[in-house]
Amino acid sequence: MAEMFIGGEFVRTQRERFPVLNPATEEVLDTVPLAGPEEVDLAVRSAHQAFQTWSATPAARRGDLLLRAAQHVHDHLEELARTLTLEQGKPLREARLEIRRFVETLVHYAGLGRNLRGGYVPNLDEGAYGLVLKRPLGVVAAIVPWNFPTTLLGNKLGPALVAGNTVVAKPAETTPLATLRIAQLLHEAGLPPGVFNVVTGTGPQTGEALVRHPLVRKVAFTGSTQVGKRIMALAAEGVKRVTLELGGSDPMIVCDDADLDAAASAASVGRFFNCGQACVAVKRLFVFESVAEPFVEKLLAKVRRLRVGPGLEDGVHMGPLHTQRQRERIEEQVQDALDRGARLLAGGRRPEDPRLQKGFFYEPTVLLEPDPQARVAQEEVFGPVLPIWRVADLEEAIQRANSSPYGLGSSIWTRSLERASVAAERLEAGYTWVNSVNRIYDELPFGGTKQSGFGKEHGLEALDYYMETKSVVVRALGG
Ligand code: NAD
Repeated sequence: MAEMFIGGEFVRTQRERFPVLNPATEEVLDTVPLAGPEEVDLAVRSAHQAFQTWSATPAARRGDLLLRAAQHVHDHLEELARTLTLEQGKPLREARLEIRRFVETLVHYAGLGRNLRGGYVPNLDEGAYGLVLKRPLGVVAAIVPWNFPTTLLGNKLGPALVAGNTVVAKPAETTPLATLRIAQLLHEAGLPPGVFNVVTGTGPQTGEALVRHPLVRKVAFTGSTQVGKRIMALAAEGVKRVTLELGGSDPMIVCDDADLDAAASAASVGRFFNCGQACVAVKRLFVFESVAEPFVEKLLAKVRRLRVGPGLEDGVHMGPLHTQRQRERIEEQVQDALDRGARLLAGGRRPEDPRLQKGFFYEPTVLLEPDPQARVAQEEVFGPVLPIWRVADLEEAIQRANSSPYGLGSSIWTRSLERASVAAERLEAGYTWVNSVNRIYDELPFGGTKQSGFGKEHGLEALDYYMETKSVVVRALGG
């Protein structure tokens, strides 16, 4: 039975427990407690107490500890990847990648511990100068979804901890296990008790108690736009800072001068990686009419080769959807598109393989020309379904790409510098990839615009979201 990690140890509670399922078999893997306000209070107080010493620890030393912790997690990569596959469903190869990304992000921010900087302004006034201090905020609540439970945690943990904050994380109710193990590993590696705590439970009960807690100074949230709005409203009551990494409906534009083979590969990986359950993913594809036929043919050839199965099995490209509800939502969106006249080019159903009747499997699906009012065009599609539309030119592609309420990622495939520059300038998104997709770099700031949220993770910019700025005026006595 897994327990919450508070103050450097697993803490037993008498709370009601809930099961964690394996999405590939629907079997119960473990149970975790459903934390209420008392447990949340315990975790936040523990983090608040640890903040007093952690924030006073030299930043270089914090960085060194993070580096050591990252190494220790890396030493347990195989074990963690397996846990992640079991609770999340993704193929083991992708789970390994995910843990590696968690480690890389920690290493990146560990290095920045030696580079935290404020400012100095000379001659403010006669005999006076100014200092710009950068100070940690205090206790940060990190609320994370189930699609990338560990990398999305790492995106918050790295900058928050190196900047001197302490953290209470709430993983999604369906994916707490790898996070709890990571908490234990970080402490084994020397992170002081209370610096990183994990509470488990549902959003409305545990998540809201965390957001409302008066000692929480900032909420770093990744999840759906709907819940993001709720968190923003709750945080407003305590005038708390928030960063919101929300949903997306990324467009991919394939021009007539694109490398069609590369674009088809990227569309397939970009849509079906993690069974399509990624915030940045190719969720709407716009291809120039003149190359639509050869492009779609190449894409379908790739899609037909995708093997669906349990994530622990060798050679599997796509695991199950994460939950029953998730699969139902995808089925409803596909049905709606078909009802509105879309052509089904691949998938559109559960696999027939008798071995895959248990588990939330669904075939990789490609739709041609759904009605622009169809749900797959209007809503985020968080699963393995790729809608394709033919467009006359770049102008039409950009207009349609921007017609979404979301603005997270985007990509354009072209050999023309002019087209690439126009798209980079005009696509309403936090990221535009030219001739590539979906790779997130620790060096570059990441985050959305419009209803995809605000605030940045990654890059030097992320640090700003975990520090406050204070001005100091110094007047030399007798000056
Ligand atoms: P979700 O919003 O339902 O849940 C996310 C987290 O919030 C979970 O831990 C959940 O328990 C918690 N939560 C739910 N209600 C809450 C409440 N009222 N108060 C406090 N916490 C609450 O999202 P999901 O369905 O788990 O994840 C999928 C969504 O996340 C998609 O929309 C996806 O695009 C988005 N996402 C965005 C990014 C990004 O970086 N922009 C990355 C990954 C996923």
